[in-house]
Amino acid sequence: MSKKLTRRQIVAGTVAGITIAALPVPAVLASPLSLANGKMSSFSDGEMNLPVESVFYDIVGNDRNKFLNAAGVSDGVWRRPVNVNLLEIGNRKILFDVGSGNNFLPSLGELPAALDAAEVDIGDITDVVFTHAHPDHIWGIVDDFDDLLMPDAAYYISQGEWDFWDSDKAMNAMPAGRESFAVGAKSRFDMLRNKMSFFKDGDEILPNIEIVKTAGHTPGHSSILIHDSGHSVLVVGDAFTHPIISFNHPEWHDPADMDREESALTRKRILDRVTADKISLAATHLPSPGFGRVEKNQAAWRYIAADS
Ligand SMILES: [Zn+2]
Repeated sequence: MSKKLTRRQIVAGTVAGITIAALPVPAVLASPLSLANGKMSSFSDGEMNLPVESVFYDIVGNDRNKFLNAAGVSDGVWRRPVNVNLLEIGNRKILFDVGSGNNFLPSLGELPAALDAAEVDIGDITDVVFTHAHPDHIWGIVDDFDDLLMPDAAYYISQGEWDFWDSDKAMNAMPAGRESFAVGAKSRFDMLRNKMSFFKDGDEILPNIEIVKTAGHTPGHSSILIHDSGHSVLVVGDAFTHPIISFNHPEWHDPADMDREESALTRKRILDRVTADKISLAATHLPSPGFGRVEKNQAAWRYIAADS
């Protein structure tokens, strides 16, 4: 079991006047996906509460209330989970993204505790594959003392994503208020510079694990296709962020999509592929645990959560 302490545990211990008092750990997200050759689990890094004004602001008129109500954002807050997937296959433990750690939003940074609760030693993770370099996907590589939580793991990211966030282009592209996204990505890159391997569209980075370019949300955003004789799964990161809107209206962009046109084209292309090839989705921000499949009904796509 990992003995690393979080800032919250230390603060809790200090306040309580005792040595260390661990806070209650979050529930482990149930229902791992059984693959023919392994197991895919989902762990919660927490939940992001976004003001409704920032949600899908290209929905206008009567459609806006209709979709937001149907999407469960009628109280002014869009509660967006952050799911992190772990694939256990052979002797590998492969993590897809790492959550945000404790320096982004106070409601996030729960991944280490969630893994601990499931008796997964974070030090045993062999590989970490990033979909993209936004804070809720990469900032969590470090603990509260800025040490790598998984110093022995191999790391993978797309060359395009690396080149963007590792250059001045990132800071120049950030809207006001999001400058920390560029600074935070660069500082994490500096820690991983000698450990990172780079991939491009179509690469097989590990046996039966193939990269599918899904750019638009960020310049090098990538999904990861786990080929499996029983149950192939596409880890889609933030290519799909809402269980109704992203599927009913893939042309409506997520507020964090950097290239709106490209992200919409990506969604449509991926929807065609996963429905034709019967590939399941594993998504960071779809309702926990974030596993589901897609059906096409006449002209419209529909997301069906794995548990329903
Ligand atoms: Zn995200």
